[in-house]
Amino acid sequence: MPSGESSTVERTSFPINFTIVGGGLSGLACAIALRQAGHDVVVLERDEHISPGGPRGGCRLTPNMTKVLRQWGLLEEVHKRCSSIMNTVKFYKCEGDEFLGQHEYTDEVLKECGGGYWIFLSHEDLRAILYDAAVKAGAEIRTGCIVSSIEPETRTVTLASGETLTAGVIVGADGATGLVRKVVAGRELTRTPDGYVLFHTSLKAEHIPEVPEIRGGNVDDKAVFVRYADGFCVYSYPVNPDGDLAIHIYAPDDGEDGDWNGQPTVNVAGLVSGQAPWLDKLATLVPRAIRVRNFAHEDLDDWVHEASGHVVVVGDAAHPFPQGGLQTFGMLIEDAAVLGKVFSYLTEESQVANTLWGFQDVRQTRCRAVHKREVHRARLFTLKNGPEQEARDEALRSRKLEQWHGSDLGLYSLEEPRVLFAYDANEAGAEWWQTWGILRERARREKPVDKPVMVGVEVSIEANVS
Ligand SMILES: Cc1cc2nc3c(=O)[nH]c(=O)nc-3n(C[C@H](O)[C@H](O)[C@H](O)COP(=O)(O)OP(=O)(O)OC[C@H]3O[C@@H](n4cnc5c(N)ncnc54)[C@H](O)[C@@H]3O)c2cc1C
Repeated sequence: MPSGESSTVERTSFPINFTIVGGGLSGLACAIALRQAGHDVVVLERDEHISPGGPRGGCRLTPNMTKVLRQWGLLEEVHKRCSSIMNTVKFYKCEGDEFLGQHEYTDEVLKECGGGYWIFLSHEDLRAILYDAAVKAGAEIRTGCIVSSIEPETRTVTLASGETLTAGVIVGADGATGLVRKVVAGRELTRTPDGYVLFHTSLKAEHIPEVPEIRGGNVDDKAVFVRYADGFCVYSYPVNPDGDLAIHIYAPDDGEDGDWNGQPTVNVAGLVSGQAPWLDKLATLVPRAIRVRNFAHEDLDDWVHEASGHVVVVGDAAHPFPQGGLQTFGMLIEDAAVLGKVFSYLTEESQVANTLWGFQDVRQTRCRAVHKREVHRARLFTLKNGPEQEARDEALRSRKLEQWHGSDLGLYSLEEPRVLFAYDANEAGAEWWQTWGILRERARREKPVDKPVMVGVEVSIEANVS
């Protein structure tokens, strides 16, 4: 089992007080990273309980994410609750149970990308692990606290109870439809239904022998199974050491709303009937599904509140990903790691705004690029039978997945590990400081400040020396 080693972390010489709105995965991850960087943290979460019970969900932890969890010293705890390590994605057609092809992430490739790996975990367990780690790191986490308004200029957060809190920085981790996102944008934001609904359900491991097709005929616990049908897809993966499966069914948008906080009310039989006998059988074995409608959200130009320079958004509040996205969790953990890293260099109050803009500089381009891939990937899941579906299936059958790179089906290519998995969030944050952070700091201190050439020369010498 991989060790839960943690890396040495820089700590600020100027601790400030962060108030984080939202104790979902992003808020808790930011709390860990900011505490590790030496800052004071209060998290305000409207849920009464961090683990409210109900459906446990499923999260895919990608190599770029497990790398951060290792640096935070959390992998040991994760390994007590997660699936075994995964290395393959297998594609089938529901119709005729045809095996289309597979994509394997070899040990060599993963090693080249910095040693991260794939594991899967229930959403509830991941949240509980992050919660425990945030508390252990010294964050104050207040549940049952609904944030009703924010005043960026005075950095004041007001709760529905009437209580007010003043912060050094307000971090909006309150999700895609949260309050802070609107405060940062300075207006209401739009979202539009975007093509599909994700239905989430689960299958106990003891039932897998009754529908072996869901694991390709045997309990192959090293693979994710993607099964395409006409306009929809059944996606399954284990989420704990027992091998219980999370099952996502991506189906065309039917006009009905729903989100992760909803009740599991959907009878899966109605979704899969007529596709394959084993799917009809599966529908009798799984609990009712949660309906999560997918929306395209307006892209935020800025993640930092411009006028105050002291409010920032992270995770889904900054960059809402398509539902069931592969990198949703990787991106929010990277956000947290970068935020913690850039704030570990803080030495005085006047640097706060620059540092928040630095966080945006480091994260926004990557998140936009990954978002684009995720939208495309989700579209492949719900292709109706026709020329595009045939091209997708043929590419899989040919097993020349690397040729997908650059084509309209450019997923699961060799480029993927290099672009996505090799990223090291800590290094990205440190690099920002060494290139731009120090530069801005010098420029701010020097009078007159408009000497770009001189400043650039000094900084490159400094960077080489360090
Ligand atoms: C309960 C739940 C279960 C989920 N399960 C899955 C899953 O199994 N698989 C999957 O792919 N995705 C799941 N998701 C979605 C996924 O967690 C998010 O898309 C992604 O993790 C982004 O996380 P986030 O922390 O940025 O935002 P969110 O997960 O949306 O978290 C935002 C948090 O902010 C809190 N909040 C919002 N407004 C306020 C306010 N005004 N005051 C105080 N607190 C506030 C919310 O209660 C929530 O805890 C789930 C989301 C939730 C909320």
